[in-house]
Amino acid sequence: MSNSPELITDLTQLAQWVQAQSDDGLSVGLVPTMGALHAGHLSLVKSAAQQSDVVLVTIFVNPTQFAADEDLQQYPRDLEGDLQRLQSVAKVTVFAPTVTDIYPSGKSPATNIESNELDDVATRWEGEQRPGHFLGVTTIVHKLFTLTKPQIAFFGRKDYQQLRVIEQLNEEHRHNIKIVGCPIVREEDGLAMSSRNAYLTAAQRTQATAIYKGLQTACSMANNMEMAATELQEVVQKQLGNAEINRIDYVAVVHPKSLEPLVLLDRTEQIKQIKLGAIILVAVFVGNTRLIDNIYIPPINP
Ligand code: AMP
Repeated sequence: MSNSPELITDLTQLAQWVQAQSDDGLSVGLVPTMGALHAGHLSLVKSAAQQSDVVLVTIFVNPTQFAADEDLQQYPRDLEGDLQRLQSVAKVTVFAPTVTDIYPSGKSPATNIESNELDDVATRWEGEQRPGHFLGVTTIVHKLFTLTKPQIAFFGRKDYQQLRVIEQLNEEHRHNIKIVGCPIVREEDGLAMSSRNAYLTAAQRTQATAIYKGLQTACSMANNMEMAATELQEVVQKQLGNAEINRIDYVAVVHPKSLEPLVLLDRTEQIKQIKLGAIILVAVFVGNTRLIDNIYIPPINP
């Protein structure tokens, strides 16, 4: 049996496909992506294949989530290669719409999520560094949820804040979709897989390994002793500095749900209290390439 993906490129065809799944009583697992698929994306597809009857992968480089000075034009696009990569993983349907299909009236009036609908989860960290980014993300995800009517949707914990923002969108707009956050897939040396890793030179690629090394060091220190959040941040910053990664957007130790900074994290007090552990979020530039990563610090067992 060939697993060659069925490719849908227009909205009428998509509506028919969605109706057919519903008529057949099949659950749809949605995996939204911007393409240039790597093993991180494919792990989401595998989870979707395990947890739903049919898998719909969307491939769309969403212009509204890029600021004017970002890499929209340069962003890697490889639909043929993506279809081949998907073929080796699971039987999927691919929806790859045009920009006009998604934004019929053009880019600027297109966000249908108002900025005041996004609360603090969206306004700090990435929200602060990339103004408008989450408006673009929530707009496209809201449109995709509405158009594709999935029962389950899969997102990577690599974009941890995005996952939280989407969970919130799902609640606010009562999409009633089960949101699944999938583990971060890494290269052998620990660098989180990202389509943007392709921009790195060999030297920058080596430098970039300091991101996960710093996160790991901080996490294991936090697991072994009580530390202030600031100390953990310094551990990560030092490792970044040693690798000459000097443009740091943020290194933050945060509450896993609210993403509020845990300013003076005391393991016995705060982490035990919140019982959820903590997340260290990192965003840096290696050369001109912006990379993000994060690590989870589990709570101490009382
Ligand atoms: P993107 O194509 O970058 O928009 O990513 C599409 C989805 O894949 C998002 O939910 C990402 O969080 C997820 N993703 C990207 N890279 C990874 C990774 N290294 N591990 C797990 N999920 C990932």
